[in-house]
Amino acid sequence: MRAPVDDRLAVLRGPAPRRAYTARALAALENNPRCTLRALLDASGSDKAAIAEHAGYPSAFGQSSFALARGNVFEALAKEDGGAELLRLLRETLGLTLPEVGYADLNDYGGDGRPESRYQYTRELMVAAARGEEAPTLYDRPMLRLQVAGHDAYLEPDLVAFRAGDRFHVVEIKSFPIIDGQADPAQVRSATTQACAYIIALRDLLARAGIGPQAVSDDVVLVTPKDFTNRPTAAFVDARKQVATLTRQLSRLERVGDLVALLPEGLTFDLDLDGTRPQRPPAELVAALDEVDATYRPDCLNHCEMAFYCRSRARTGASLDVLGAAVREQFGGIDTTTMVLGLARGQLTPGPDQSEMAVALRHAAQLRAELTGTDGGSI
Ligand code: SF4
Repeated sequence: MRAPVDDRLAVLRGPAPRRAYTARALAALENNPRCTLRALLDASGSDKAAIAEHAGYPSAFGQSSFALARGNVFEALAKEDGGAELLRLLRETLGLTLPEVGYADLNDYGGDGRPESRYQYTRELMVAAARGEEAPTLYDRPMLRLQVAGHDAYLEPDLVAFRAGDRFHVVEIKSFPIIDGQADPAQVRSATTQACAYIIALRDLLARAGIGPQAVSDDVVLVTPKDFTNRPTAAFVDARKQVATLTRQLSRLERVGDLVALLPEGLTFDLDLDGTRPQRPPAELVAALDEVDATYRPDCLNHCEMAFYCRSRARTGASLDVLGAAVREQFGGIDTTTMVLGLARGQLTPGPDQSEMAVALRHAAQLRAELTGTDGGSI
């Protein structure tokens, strides 16, 4: 059954090479699990940034080179001297009991740069550790592998995974600060979700050796600079819910055939590249994108290359999605601002599940009219 689905996804992508998955891209799946457009773009390995740009909505998504450089410097600091500072944090700040430490640097095992050799070596070491055999405790940049929509995705964690007690923990090192014990919740969530992809991939690696999921903790160890210094501090973040959501979303990609079956025949996001220059008329590409459901949310701007296109589309359709999940929930059963205004003005007849909301909207419109001295129809 896989081949026809793969053929259809290849049509969707066009002849451009399939994009490799990154943990960051996988993590983004967790942020908008209902989005069909994102699922199809990811499953087909389409180049979302190039598509968004050619459609006229270049992406502002991604980290600045300054942020990347700062992240690299902080990561190197946290790991220096064979992870001595990291170890102190894990033992003293988090109270983890670590045995004698063996540090495995897996950055360039094999010397040929092949992810598969690094994956196999990582696997050998981690399976031995999980079985209680002699093995390192700290793993610097292990190579993990995950099946995404029927294809291998190699994930090179920007982290150290270690073993404490009988469990592996995933460590995510980030350069945003924790100030007075508080960090930006959006950044913490984004870092944790990225770590979830590693947790799932590590569980997959161990499962292939018959080792159960409990061997990998659901608690991510987040290491960040403390206050305004470069001194690292660490905290546990419970990632159980995000792991479950991302797992569900990955299985949705495995069942992408259900989504593909609903696509119009011949639909493609092919840019018709001449070398690196797209030849396809942008309006035609936008029309193809418009054929697929997209569930825009304001936080797409932080997670997905297609965000400006989807925001514009949601605005054009007067969708309540642009106002965020809280507003969306308040207006359950009503999809657009046009409909909200129509009900408030009494110009639309509410459906059975909209009558309560229609009364509330009408009441709000009357109050507003009294306060502003206008009539209800002027909203
Ligand atoms: S930006 Fe668009 S394609 Fe990406 S997740 Fe949001 S709605 Fe889906």
